[in-house]
Amino acid sequence: MSQTTQVAPQRSNLAVELLDQDRRKAYLHSRPRKLMNTLARMYRPVLKNRRLVAASAAYALAAGLLPLLGVGVMHTLAGLLAAPGATPRGMLLAAGIYALGFFVLSAASTLLKNRNYTGFASLRIRLLNAALDREMTMDYGLFESPGFMDDVGGWSRALSSNNAGLEGTYHKIFEMGGTLVSALGLGALLALASPWITLAGLAFVAVTYAAQAHVSRYKHARREELSRLLRQMDNLSREAADFRAGKDLRLYDMAGRFRATFAPLLQANRKLYKAFTQREVQLSVPESLALAAIDLAGALLLARGYLSGRITLAQLVMLLTALSLFARTMQELAGQLAAIKDQTRYVDDTMDFIDADLQSRGGTGSVPGTGPVEVIFEDVSFHYPGHDKLVLEHLSLRIPAGQRCALVGVNGAGKTTLVKLLCGLYLPTQGRIFINGVDAATIPQEQLFALFGTVFQEVEPLAFTIAENVAATDRDIDRARVEQSLKTAGLWDKVCSLPRGMDSPMLKVVEEDGVILSGGENQKLMIARALYRQGTRMMVMDEPTAALDALAEQKIYQEFDSLLSGRTALFISHRLASTRFCDRIVLLDGGRITQQGTHEELVAREGLYRRMFLTQGKYYQEEQA
Ligand code: ADP
Repeated sequence: MSQTTQVAPQRSNLAVELLDQDRRKAYLHSRPRKLMNTLARMYRPVLKNRRLVAASAAYALAAGLLPLLGVGVMHTLAGLLAAPGATPRGMLLAAGIYALGFFVLSAASTLLKNRNYTGFASLRIRLLNAALDREMTMDYGLFESPGFMDDVGGWSRALSSNNAGLEGTYHKIFEMGGTLVSALGLGALLALASPWITLAGLAFVAVTYAAQAHVSRYKHARREELSRLLRQMDNLSREAADFRAGKDLRLYDMAGRFRATFAPLLQANRKLYKAFTQREVQLSVPESLALAAIDLAGALLLARGYLSGRITLAQLVMLLTALSLFARTMQELAGQLAAIKDQTRYVDDTMDFIDADLQSRGGTGSVPGTGPVEVIFEDVSFHYPGHDKLVLEHLSLRIPAGQRCALVGVNGAGKTTLVKLLCGLYLPTQGRIFINGVDAATIPQEQLFALFGTVFQEVEPLAFTIAENVAATDRDIDRARVEQSLKTAGLWDKVCSLPRGMDSPMLKVVEEDGVILSGGENQKLMIARALYRQGTRMMVMDEPTAALDALAEQKIYQEFDSLLSGRTALFISHRLASTRFCDRIVLLDGGRITQQGTHEELVAREGLYRRMFLTQGKYYQEEQA
């Protein structure tokens, strides 16, 4: 082997580094958790939007003045009633003026609330995009780690609802503006009669807020448990709803099996929510008692003021109205503050996720030369982070530049894992992979990714147009190259038969008339995507023809010369007959390469390859018979 050993800095390996829960938490949540910091961050984009700020202030005034108007009307009407010579006409006039005031204020507050609603919703969508972007670009090893995903997975809950999480907090704070204005007005009015009432109201808010914050801390501490349950239930429901599984589910009557898996998850979920609601219910009783006590004591204090002649009857009526509104306002305020504190915990988690650097960075190496690359696996061992079982064990393999190498082995032998290591989605646990003599662990990830044209077994087109799927972008698409790639992959005739050709949208996720291709056609589409990519120096194909019929597969092989020209190729298949066009075949068994050679050589030798080939050949011949 001729690699030059380099001592260069390696890329970081986040999938391994963040395996430990404490380290993960310290890495993700490094900022101090302060409500004010979160609010400051949340309101940066709001403050830049003057209309949103002005509308929020106007709403606070309009909604906040409404209860004060109610208090005013009571004062006026009681005053008119008590005055000598009160006429129904005068009272009607006063009530009419107040009614007009009510109408104007309530119409204005409803209007402003509705207008601002979309403003807050679009701020949420903006952050949702940022979080999606983070999820799509984070290290693959993190993405495949259930522990990590349970830790950060709550982001979708903080950003997917209008009424909870980020947007819910915006709406709550917006509404709280009105509550605060009412609380200030009513509190000041009552303080004039007896400061004790106002102080009792404030104490009520403080105690209720602290108690509710305690419950929300408990809920937040169990968020991972909840995330895990929701993730499992979500996966199951998605599988149950997946139209590809629909046939099997029905024909094999597997609904019962699904229900049986679902039942314990549902039960655990119910138990968790029960623990949450129990604590909330426990709080509600003392809360109501405290409110009733404030109402009662306040009324007594006011009655005493009336009896001592300090306040008039009209003032008493007004203050009693203010008292009952004040108690309700204080309850509302405590609830809003607690909800804001509760929801911002999750908003905080989400912002930490968006801000975190989740890509393994570093490495200064680069692959020398142009054209096909030479790949060497040197004593490579690998286990998935968090698992003990070695999937690859002291594996050594050399693929010379330009060679077409087939990798075969039984299911679960580790073929896909080897590809993930080669492409840089994971780093070896031990040993090294050299590309043109350079340790792949020292090459920055983007550079490494750009070397490969890959076609994986699980082919999933995205809900873009066909051309966008092939070009993997929506910008500067070279349509002639898309056409050529589709032709080489054998999909051009099909694309031409569609009314909108290569501009046809795919899937029915976004557009009603989205095209749904068959499994084999999807595979051809993915081959076209790998071909479209420029500058690739190696093709890696993981069962790229598994969903193709024999004729289509044969045709693709005939095209392989032009398909693979100028590139090294690693081709994975469990259909041994389909690897004959390769220069060399290596057999992966028990995490190691146990046999290698040409098809003819391997068939001639005693061993697993020959056994597998003869078994497959037998079935093939039986099929033909
Ligand atoms: P093949 O492609 O040969 O069928 P794979 O490379 O997909 O095999 O899988 C090899 C082994 O690694 C299997 O035992 C599989 O269960 C395990 N494995 C694959 N992916 C993961 C993962 N993300 N986490 C843990 N184990 C995995």
